[in-house]
Amino acid sequence: MTDITDLTVEQLAEAWQRIRDTSPADEADPFVLDCARRLSADPGGEQAHVWVSGLLAMSGHLARRPVREAERAALDALRAAVKELGRRACSHEDHPYESEMDWIEDEIWLGDNGLLTGELPGQDADVDAGKVLCPGNVAGWARLAVDVIAPLTVRRIPVGAPADHQSSISTLSGIVNDYPYCDPHDVLIDEAACLPARPTRGVLAGYLVTMNATCWYAASERITDRSVPASMVKGVEAAVALLEDGPCAHGPGEHPDTGDPDYASQVGYLLRSPGGRAEIAEYDGWDEDGEDGEDGEGGDGPGEDEPLDAWVCPAFLRELASETIGTLRGALAAFDDVPTESRDGA
Ligand SMILES: [Zn+2]
Ligand SMILES: [Zn+2]
Repeated sequence: MTDITDLTVEQLAEAWQRIRDTSPADEADPFVLDCARRLSADPGGEQAHVWVSGLLAMSGHLARRPVREAERAALDALRAAVKELGRRACSHEDHPYESEMDWIEDEIWLGDNGLLTGELPGQDADVDAGKVLCPGNVAGWARLAVDVIAPLTVRRIPVGAPADHQSSISTLSGIVNDYPYCDPHDVLIDEAACLPARPTRGVLAGYLVTMNATCWYAASERITDRSVPASMVKGVEAAVALLEDGPCAHGPGEHPDTGDPDYASQVGYLLRSPGGRAEIAEYDGWDEDGEDGEDGEGGDGPGEDEPLDAWVCPAFLRELASETIGTLRGALAAFDDVPTESRDGA
């Protein structure tokens, strides 16, 4: 294979597009590291938009199948770009990336963001290159990439979950508040089955939070079909198998409180997109203390201890999942008429 450093930008861009969540690390990492190195070398430079676009294209890979060195290099480079570019003043009232927020889920590389060429495809073609390549727009995309790879560690992402997530939120809210307007059996079975094979960190966390927020309902007498708790157990077990190992960086009491199923059921979907996560951050009052400094990162590695990122902490999620499975197994036992403690008095 040709040395990466000999490739043209066009050849690199083609390679970035081919990096998928399924790409093996030895294929993807050289491109991630190369791109991160170039961006880090001049994070506020003329070519920064090109390298941001490369890391953005590969962010889905990094968010799913982390390889520590490549992931860290990509995050450092993107954060440096945010720091350099994000504080430059411009005359624009908004930037193209903001109008994408309605549909941006964690798979943000699927659309053409124009960063490579300065031009947006199709109907947005009238947006001028100045706006597409404005440091404010490049920084905006860099923030989104950081948030996909390391959810809830970056500030100033526009608030707003994608429309279909908002609709799921209201459906689930109806269920956990006990006034469902769709058949809860169907909804919960669909939810249990919706985990992708290789979810991003945000999607995986959101899935497990949703399952936990709804498990009391699935275990209640309102559910008359055994396949509801059964499919939820199956889904949660599959999700747990995808959680990363590694130590929990949080202190006592820093894991989120999931005691309110209504709020937790909302968070379950908000966790699955950058705009939704920004809503969680806004709810938590992030905006006020993040206004002047850029994005709250210390730039020194493990300093990222915003408690909010505990929503995606594997240790927290494991605990949550085991609580969920316990509740659902109780429901299955009742269906199977297995004698439980409550029947002991006879
Ligand atoms: Zn601008
Ligand atoms: Zn933790």
